Amino acid sequence: MFKSINPATGETIATHAPLSAAEIEAKVAAAHAGYARWRTSAYAERTALLSRIGDAFEANKSALAEMAVREMGKTLKSAVAEVEKCVSGFRYYAEHGPALLSDTEVQTASGSTTARWLPMGPVLAVMPWNFPYWQVVRFMAPAIMAGNVGLLKHASLTQGCAALIEDIVRQAGAPDGVFQNLAIPSDAVGGLIADDRIVAVTLTGSEGAGMKVAEAAGRALKKVVLELGGSDPFIVMPSADVAKAAKVAVTARTQNAGQSCICAKRFIVHADVHDDFLARFSDGMQAVKIDDPMTDGTDMGPLSSVEQRDTVVSQIAEAEGEGARLLFGGEAIDRAGAWMTPGVLVDVPPEGAFAKQEIFGPIAMVFRVPDIDAAIALANDVPFGLGSSVWTTEAAEQERFAREIEAGMTAVNAMLASVPEAPFGGVKRSGHGRELGPWGLHEFMNLKAVMR
Ligand code: NDP
Repeated sequence: MFKSINPATGETIATHAPLSAAEIEAKVAAAHAGYARWRTSAYAERTALLSRIGDAFEANKSALAEMAVREMGKTLKSAVAEVEKCVSGFRYYAEHGPALLSDTEVQTASGSTTARWLPMGPVLAVMPWNFPYWQVVRFMAPAIMAGNVGLLKHASLTQGCAALIEDIVRQAGAPDGVFQNLAIPSDAVGGLIADDRIVAVTLTGSEGAGMKVAEAAGRALKKVVLELGGSDPFIVMPSADVAKAAKVAVTARTQNAGQSCICAKRFIVHADVHDDFLARFSDGMQAVKIDDPMTDGTDMGPLSSVEQRDTVVSQIAEAEGEGARLLFGGEAIDRAGAWMTPGVLVDVPPEGAFAKQEIFGPIAMVFRVPDIDAAIALANDVPFGLGSSVWTTEAAEQERFAREIEAGMTAVNAMLASVPEAPFGGVKRSGHGRELGPWGLHEFMNLKAVMR
């Protein structure tokens, strides 16, 4: 049984039975049959469905948001914002999808060729608990627009969210097989990837899970998109508005209790403004209001599970073992559930193993650098390459960061966030492929050359 445990209380709030082998088979067969119909559906039918699902998410905002709070501990305010973002994701593809799928004509030596976007088939999505709706919508909305069908294997922690999504999509009138939730453990994923009826797989999660899924996809020669971890740099240069940068830095590190792949994790600060930034940032981190995630005014609730909290606390000891200093915080709070305080680490040896790890919790590493060359070198000195945020008003510096930081995304004088219109994804061990915008729509499509 999957157990949903409220990380704010430690109480088991629900159990969910995994599907039997026969139930999995029935859902895969329904996806296969559903695709045979959906692949030739009119764009207008697809956009109408996306609009109805968006409306249904909006109508069920409170139920969705409260389920996420109970299952993984994010604040109600952020859960509501996540559901609203999902609505905008459905509406983006409903509004722009047909234009993004228009044909491209190219002249060739022998005549003309039409490049046409066609669907591929049933896509399996393996998704994590940290944004239990938005991660799913990033895959589901473009899949529906493409004419594909989707099968979701959601995280064990958030099976209640997964079941709600399936219900809402069905209530919105999705035809049979267009979107289904598979309540299955992760060891059932390999068999599904090998199944001939499933054509591709997308995963958001850890490097370990990414490697397993990519391995299975490789054996089956199937396309895979991976959105894995990150240790995003947040660089502050002397021309920056340091007060604003420090304020945003607190949110960038503690949003979702620090459990986002694009949370800023390494704060790389020019020596001229380092002490000022560190003082302001430290004040902000210590002022983060930790309380019941359902309560108004709470900045940070518990982490998603006691295991996740304990992992983060043990990482601090590891950093200290390499010579880092914990300025404050980083302690488990003595109350039932998965609570801890935000903390700041300094003097982390940049060349050590710890500086290259991802911390999936509210702990920041702050580094001092002498110049922009050192900032870029340190930013790139990790196995990851997901996001980045750079703070400078000098155009030449902005351009150097944009060109030289090895990451899928760079936000300038702002916190990095994903939006429906822009590409989202990483390089290096943060994965490959892109979600969102036209790029996410095209990832799982067959670009056919029709030659006349
Ligand atoms: P996982 O990567 O284990 O979980 C993500 C998804 O992958 C879940 O649906 C999980 O299922 C599934 N999964 C896990 N192992 C396999 C496997 N071998 N084959 C197929 N599917 C698999 O993340 P965790 O929840 O364990 O978190 C651990 C770390 O992962 C975090 O500390 C963080 O570093 C990273 N992470 C990154 C995220 C991101 O947004 N990039 C999101 C979440 C985690 P199940 O839950 O049933 O195991």
